[in-house]
Amino acid sequence: MECRQALSERYEAACPRCAMPLVEIAGQPLACQECQRWPHRFAFALAVGRYDGLLRSLVLQAKSQSDDAVALALGNELAGRVNGCAELRDFDAVVAVPTPGGRRIWRRGHLADTLAETVARRLGVPQMTGALRFRRRVKIQSTLTPAQRRRNLRSALSATATYDMRGSRLLVIDDVLTTGATADETARALLAAGASEIGVAVLARGVGLD
Ligand SMILES: [Zn+2]
Repeated sequence: MECRQALSERYEAACPRCAMPLVEIAGQPLACQECQRWPHRFAFALAVGRYDGLLRSLVLQAKSQSDDAVALALGNELAGRVNGCAELRDFDAVVAVPTPGGRRIWRRGHLADTLAETVARRLGVPQMTGALRFRRRVKIQSTLTPAQRRRNLRSALSATATYDMRGSRLLVIDDVLTTGATADETARALLAAGASEIGVAVLARGVGLD
């Protein structure tokens, strides 16, 4: 489906469940082998592009720079992609993946928060800020193997009592999706609090361990 395809020429077809780049196939794309074997908690995922080249540089710039212009521009790009996808437009609210407490990697906080704010504003849907909290300390995911990432986050999140999300379709926003461990744990906690369906929208799809 066009709305699940990404921007770069090298990324013309994607798994509808996890946005993994696939060799282009005729007709409706099927879930990739990983998703067929180990289904994610989220129902589907959209990525603007692969986590490499210009997009990777821009994501790293948005995370490290004190100037927020790049983050806002990336947020607008993501919002445009989400807005162009009929299934994602009718979500009830957006939720940024939470970052472990105190880790401020960007001046105004976490890149995912800025992306979620921009998507919410452009789509005219509420953003559920503070909807999730960490129940225990976790390690930073980027230093871990895929198996360690899953263990690190297992049941680490819970929904706060701030929102009644029963029956809601929620769109989870993050900057990069790699193993999907963070998005899965976020989706698990939201579903446990009564959400009916979770979609994921990210700037970039990492392949391997980026
Ligand atoms: Zn997949």
